[in-house]
Amino acid sequence: MSIPSHEPKRPARARVVLYTTGGTIASTDADGSGGVAPNLAGAALLGEAAGAIGDIDLAVVGVRQVPSGELTIADAIEVSGRLRRDFANGFDGAVVAQGTDTIEEFAFALDLLTVAGSPVVVTGAMRHPGELSADGPANLAAAIRVAGDSRLRDLGVLVVMNDEIHAARFVRKSDSSSLGAFASRTTGPIGRVVEGRARRYVNPPPLARVIEPDRLGPFVPPVALVGCALGDDGRLLEHLADLGYAGVVIEGFGGGHVPGRLVGPLAALAGEVPVVLASRTGAGDVLESTYGYDGSERDLLGRGLISAGFLDGRKARVLLSLLLGTGASTAQVAAAFARLHRSATGLA
Ligand code: ASP
Repeated sequence: MSIPSHEPKRPARARVVLYTTGGTIASTDADGSGGVAPNLAGAALLGEAAGAIGDIDLAVVGVRQVPSGELTIADAIEVSGRLRRDFANGFDGAVVAQGTDTIEEFAFALDLLTVAGSPVVVTGAMRHPGELSADGPANLAAAIRVAGDSRLRDLGVLVVMNDEIHAARFVRKSDSSSLGAFASRTTGPIGRVVEGRARRYVNPPPLARVIEPDRLGPFVPPVALVGCALGDDGRLLEHLADLGYAGVVIEGFGGGHVPGRLVGPLAALAGEVPVVLASRTGAGDVLESTYGYDGSERDLLGRGLISAGFLDGRKARVLLSLLLGTGASTAQVAAAFARLHRSATGLA
């Protein structure tokens, strides 16, 4: 007869997969040229982080070895496919290590593409491994711990930098060199890593799923991101359709405004391709119903431009690119932006 054991059951160790893609976190001066470039992978990239991840089983997969300006939306589609397969194969969480220059866009693309509730965490480093107090190992260890923490499921893709946990939908690189370069100005970070454990203060609402990953081919149509500046005469806009762009995002002033002379070219463009109106301020929503002058948000939305809602221009471009990649029409693009906005702002 076997005697039932009263030993407490050990919780299963979390399994986390780390994808490496290059960036400063992986950069050394390997050729002695005086400048660093991505070349570290595997154990060399993990460095001291390997001893600081607690009770987590880690698998490391090299995906790319590039500065993050070389990553593309197609790369995000590929990584999201790997994520889906790895979660189906029993991984509990995933970390993507990449250059910080494009984290805000890559992480948001993964957020739109990754259906599983398992934590997906993107991280990087502001100081390369050869600098004093390089932040890569601490960021990696924190990201791996967050990815292995089942309490952080269903929050969408997260960005962990400098012991702060940000929602991919809001975070931006807001400083060219500070260790605290990442900020989510609309909400602040949703949590922090304190003494090696994640603490969550804010629950971002679940984002509506507006992208069907299975409908995406390898080709993502080109989408232009155009700024708007004092005294802008709009001459760039007149040529955009001829350049073969399948869609355009315009970052207007303030709540979504442009000089009156840009209205004609924008309205003409909106008759040919989807044109999304974002704010160049980097936080807050595009307005809907306040101003009534030529070039105001009411004027532009009334002429067929599509509101980016809470998304900044870069993130709106990612969403528009993915929607066009699934073959969405202008009406479907408008509906998807509206649905995403309602879900993210509690208006759903
Ligand atoms: N230039 C680097 C990159 O994005 C910057 C970084 O990783 O912090 O690849």
